[in-house]
Amino acid sequence: MTDLTINTAIDCSMPAVFTARHLIDGQWVDSAERFERVSPSHGSVVSVCAKAGEHETQLAIAAARRAFDSGGWSHSSAKERATLLLKVAALIESNVENIAIQETLESGKPIAQSRAEVSGAADLWRYAASLARTTYGDSHNTLGDDMLGMVLKQPIGVVSIITPWNFPFWILSQKLPFALAAGCTVVVKPSEITPSTTVMLAELLLEAGLPAGVCNIVLGYGQPVGSLMAMHKDVDMVTFTGSTAVGKHITQAASGTLKKVALELGGKNPQVIFPDANIESAADAVTFGVYFNVGQCCNSSSRLIVHKDIADAFVDRVIQLSRQVRFGDPLDPSTQVGAIVTAEHNDKIHLYVTQAVAEGAQIALGGEPLHVEGLGNQFYQPTVITGVTPQMAITREEVFGPVLCVQTFSTLDEAIELTNDSDYGLSAGVWSENMHTCLEYARRAQAGTVWTNTWMDGYPELAFGGMKQSGQGREIGRYGFEEFLEVKSVVMRVGNSRMPWVQ
Ligand code: NAD
Repeated sequence: MTDLTINTAIDCSMPAVFTARHLIDGQWVDSAERFERVSPSHGSVVSVCAKAGEHETQLAIAAARRAFDSGGWSHSSAKERATLLLKVAALIESNVENIAIQETLESGKPIAQSRAEVSGAADLWRYAASLARTTYGDSHNTLGDDMLGMVLKQPIGVVSIITPWNFPFWILSQKLPFALAAGCTVVVKPSEITPSTTVMLAELLLEAGLPAGVCNIVLGYGQPVGSLMAMHKDVDMVTFTGSTAVGKHITQAASGTLKKVALELGGKNPQVIFPDANIESAADAVTFGVYFNVGQCCNSSSRLIVHKDIADAFVDRVIQLSRQVRFGDPLDPSTQVGAIVTAEHNDKIHLYVTQAVAEGAQIALGGEPLHVEGLGNQFYQPTVITGVTPQMAITREEVFGPVLCVQTFSTLDEAIELTNDSDYGLSAGVWSENMHTCLEYARRAQAGTVWTNTWMDGYPELAFGGMKQSGQGREIGRYGFEEFLEVKSVVMRVGNSRMPWVQ
């Protein structure tokens, strides 16, 4: 397809292959086995990592348990914890470039986006530091003259953190600083596809002076590492971001010990466009919402639900804008959309598209893998599909690619019905200049986040998470922080008025 905007390969030298080991009890630990990551855009090996089995995972969990039970971190003052988190934030900011390049090489995301995610993550560390200092429990002075009730907040304990490949550094920073701010100790397993920047962050934690055993990193696969981290009796909570299918396994694995489970899972998120919307802004946001991170984003707005009266003109405008989005070499600073994470995933995206066409949908734009000169075929064209029905897999399932499917509606009730006709409930958006329309939609949409006249703006202060099969629990914001705290009631008699039970 010639009418797309493609950034061909730029001339640049690749950094040295990153080698990574586990961090266990403050020491870098190797394994006999290794695994490699090949850059999705450039096809060369970009990292070689120690590959953990059960042994290393057990060691890491034991280290986190000892560190928590010894109280050095869990009983430290909020001031000490906040001071360390602030140091980490500053260190992240002075290492943005190294981390961003490795993030781009492993994930395929554009370098400008990696830079923004890494530097933006520093703010999550700063915000978590502020929560450490400002959290408190309750006291009840109204229980009677000689009674005092207190509600204490304490760290929940050892937390397993399991993260995906699509936002490796950002998602880790949505969890780790909050767990540390609460006084928890952790075992982290990054995705086997994007392990390096988690290890780079661990280097900064050591530089900032985090005590041994408080944060342990184990590199490896879901089986056996992630699975053991979810089921182990010495782990008190598991927080997982990834696919809904694996989220269900985590819940099962955790059920043996009834540990707390927090899940951030998939989405099939709609943007709903009313005729009175600011059409130019809405079309731009729909274009951004579907192609950002090549659609490999839990918050991807992969469903466009547009009012019948404006549908044709609106879709035409989205297609025009899609042609202007700069797909291609992720190392080019002007690239907006990079590579698909693996060849298998590219095939899966294409299968969804061909299946939809076989079922009667029409391709209005794209619909094929994309060749980028000098880099290869692990890219996918910006794709717009019309004529979909609510039953088709492309409308119901997470394609996780740059593929927009278009549905139409006539009334607000119909727009809500289409929005909520999904197993997922992560996010939704509405575009209208009428505040009443926006508010009614926001109230009735089954989604953890509703954006009105915008898309995907997020702030550390605002909780993030999903309804239905998009997850359980919340991340970031005060609500996200509280997930890492246990609540304990202390009931105190402070006088001598107690009537004996035995007379
Ligand atoms: P994934 O579920 O395949 O893997 C996620 C992590 O789980 C990886 O570290 C993997 O090694 C590990 N894992 C795999 N099997 C496991 C098991 N049996 N036990 C324990 N751990 C196991 O997900 P992915 O492909 O890396 O990421 C894409 C998915 O993540 C998408 O579905 C996307 O929507 C979702 N996601 C959700 C959010 C959110 O905040 N809601 C954010 C980003 C991504």
